Amino acid sequence: MTYQSVNPFNGKLDKSFDEISDAQFETKISAAENCFKSWRLKSYADRAKIVAKASLLMHERVNELARIMTLEMGKRIGEARGEVQFSSDILAYYAKNAERFLADVKLHPSAGEGHMESSPIGVIFGVEPWNFPYYQLARVAGPHLMAGNVLMVKHAGCVPQCAIAFEKLWIDAGAPVGLYTNLLISHEQSNRVIDDPRIKGVALTGSVAAGRSIAARAGKNLKPSSMELGGSDAFIVLEDADLDHTIKWALWGRMYNTGQTCCAAKRFIVVDKIADRFIDKFQNALAEVKAGDPLDEATTMGPLSTESALVDLLKQVDVAVSNGAKVLMGGKRVDRPGSFMQPTILTDVKPGNPAFRDEFFGPVAMFFRVRDEEAAIALANDSDFGLGGSVFTRDLARGKHVASRIDTGMMFINNLSWSDAELPFGGVKNSGYGRELGDMGIQAFVNKKLVRYVTAEAPL
Ligand code: NAP
Repeated sequence: MTYQSVNPFNGKLDKSFDEISDAQFETKISAAENCFKSWRLKSYADRAKIVAKASLLMHERVNELARIMTLEMGKRIGEARGEVQFSSDILAYYAKNAERFLADVKLHPSAGEGHMESSPIGVIFGVEPWNFPYYQLARVAGPHLMAGNVLMVKHAGCVPQCAIAFEKLWIDAGAPVGLYTNLLISHEQSNRVIDDPRIKGVALTGSVAAGRSIAARAGKNLKPSSMELGGSDAFIVLEDADLDHTIKWALWGRMYNTGQTCCAAKRFIVVDKIADRFIDKFQNALAEVKAGDPLDEATTMGPLSTESALVDLLKQVDVAVSNGAKVLMGGKRVDRPGSFMQPTILTDVKPGNPAFRDEFFGPVAMFFRVRDEEAAIALANDSDFGLGGSVFTRDLARGKHVASRIDTGMMFINNLSWSDAELPFGGVKNSGYGRELGDMGIQAFVNKKLVRYVTAEAPL
């Protein structure tokens, strides 16, 4: 059984869902292809009516949608409501701006005239993760539907009710059959979906392992793909940082969504002069965090998404320790029912320790003390990942200089305000390729077509 809603707060199974049969898939993809034939011809204004309506419904259903998410993957209810509202905003943003983003671009050839136009390419297949069960879906649905494509999405096995609730938004918004289709399918079926000639592009957000498999499959089929993968972002603290301000972001950056964020602060790289004061305050702040019911507004730390996520994270910590890391705090599961991990700090993680290059997807921080700014930059760049990162300093020019030298897709100075509908999101190296959100996010699956008009006779 691939699709199961299990509440990680108490381990109770709520519902299971069967994968669809090949015959059911055939019906769905035929409907999607059929839908594309008319959807591609609709004006932006007509498309926007459906997308804006879905956005409005999300806004109206914020409590209901947030509760489903909290019960399925343990996100604290306040964060869950914030995610639903943000997802609604993303849909509204593309309903409003898509036409501008995809407007014809005039060219200036040596003879005659020309322009580039952006046309949709067909049915896009999305594969999405559980950590932001609606936001990840909105990030693909808003841009790609407004561009005139249609979408089929395989969501993660542990959030089937979120997947179904999101699909229902489109049905209730009056979307034509086939515009947005949730697929409850296995990995093996997913491979066959990528092979299907009716699928024209593949968007994945997930782990590096999934990226290697899905990008390879898309590549074999010569289909464009975008890969939003993992990260092990550096949180650099320079000696002139405002420490109180920095600690608040450090805590939020590691603990938001119980540490299960691709671009969370994972490697805390602190210049020697301020390192003792930083680690002292950071440790005290983490010690204040208490495990509790994610439906309770007062809870400061929810469970991890699943029991298997917790078991994997505990194993990763053990491997780190057996390779020389020291546990400054935490390192164990919380002694209570539910899939809770203690807030943890690892020190002495040296090159050669698997942890040095791994992503910890939960409340586990790695702490590194470095000599100076130059050493901080070198260590930040000594990573297979390249998603985001941050630098804390009172000197903005210095912050910008450091940000420019870090090999990632995103850098934040004195903040970790990761995501905004307007801002392109994505990474380099093993963190993937392509960008979602902003203007760039809508360009991923459109045909950039050249049209040239010249009155010249053909050369003899
Ligand atoms: P995951 O195991 O890779 O799963 C992500 C999605 O891919 C799920 O729907 C999963 O389905 C599917 N999947 C995995 N392997 C597949 C395969 N071989 N064929 C077809 N589908 C496959 O990742 P996760 O543990 O759920 O999510 C956490 C990862 O996502 C972290 O590494 C995180 O950093 C990354 N992430 C990146 C971003 C970004 O924007 N860069 C954002 C959020 C998360 P099943 O659930 O059925 O296995």
